[in-house]
Amino acid sequence: MKPYIFPPHDIAGLPVAGTDALFPVRRVYCVGRNYAGHAREMGSDPTREPPFFFCKPGDSGAVVPVPAQGVTELPYPPQTSNYHYECELVVAIGKGGSDIAVEDALAHVFGYAVGLDMTRRDLQGQMKDAGRPWEIGKAFDYSAPVGVIRRADEADAIERAAITLEVDGAVRQSSHITHLIWSISETIANLSTLFTLQPGDLIFSGTPEGVGAVTRGQTMVASIEGLSPITVKVV
Ligand code: MN
Repeated sequence: MKPYIFPPHDIAGLPVAGTDALFPVRRVYCVGRNYAGHAREMGSDPTREPPFFFCKPGDSGAVVPVPAQGVTELPYPPQTSNYHYECELVVAIGKGGSDIAVEDALAHVFGYAVGLDMTRRDLQGQMKDAGRPWEIGKAFDYSAPVGVIRRADEADAIERAAITLEVDGAVRQSSHITHLIWSISETIANLSTLFTLQPGDLIFSGTPEGVGAVTRGQTMVASIEGLSPITVKVV
């Protein structure tokens, strides 16, 4: 093999419950407006139109592994004055495929984790209004904190779990995974018609209503029943 001009960058590795081995992240796919309450608060009508997707970088500059214990610092990003949290169930793909059937989809899941789809809402809004891509609003550095992955066979009640986000102890988001417009299986099936999924891919499944801004010094605790909560402080 030829040498590299400079060392290749590190990939993001997420902790996995019950092992010291890390889950190597490949791509980060995100579902837009997948809870009716959030679709309404963003000014659109919730529908069963096919889901839509956007991506974040999967590298170690964007994905922030959050351990089960302690407080992880999250740098406030540049060029925004409306930095939003979106608490989400993250699906970790363990087996690749394309055109995956809905009934086969869960066999492709390695496990689940709690994640935050951090968003520069002001920049996202400007890009939406201009009909331009969302990257500057969604795909910035440190934009994807993700907690410990729990293996799917140890998280069998996940599709009925409660999902909660607190800021400085006050509940801001509170819903259930049952309220997903597109279920985990349906999301995987649809996404796999557009991209060949590979082991290491993450899917942020969407956020419930109650999104809002955080500022430096505030601490968020994101929780999903059955998974390790994540605690991050904006610095
Ligand atoms: Mn989101």
